[in-house]
Amino acid sequence: MQATIFSKIVNGDLPCYKVYEDDEVLAFLDISQLTKGHTIVIPKIATLSMLEASDAINDKVFSVATKLAKKIVNTFQASGCNILTNAHEAAGQEVMHFHVHIIPRYASESLVISIHKSNKEKSCDLQAIQNELQQ
Ligand code: 5GP
Repeated sequence: MQATIFSKIVNGDLPCYKVYEDDEVLAFLDISQLTKGHTIVIPKIATLSMLEASDAINDKVFSVATKLAKKIVNTFQASGCNILTNAHEAAGQEVMHFHVHIIPRYASESLVISIHKSNKEKSCDLQAIQNELQQ
């Protein structure tokens, strides 16, 4: 895998505002600070996305992200948070090193991150989709 900004941060070649570290996981403030406390959690080992990561890595990263999300929400008295990961370019992934975003949400801020209602349910065969997933 090509070196990404995040692997350079892991190696100490680029600086970051670290908020958590252990042998396998690093968490640091996202430079864009979509909201106050916006944090990125990554496995130290370079993996493209959660789709390629092992179960062990996914478990570790999401476990740390959950704990940190609670801490961030409590620390900044946020009203809630979004936890999300973009897997592959088609889903908006820009840095090709698996990462989870923790985006605290504040009732006073109108940031739009939502799964919009699509009305597609009218034209979708939900039964057929369920059948395919159960095979
Ligand atoms: P993606 O779209 O891949 O899910 O998100 C990549 C994130 O990495 C973006 O939110 C962006 O702000 C963040 N980012 C990009 N470059 C840097 C950097 O050099 N340092 C930090 N801390 N965050 C970065």
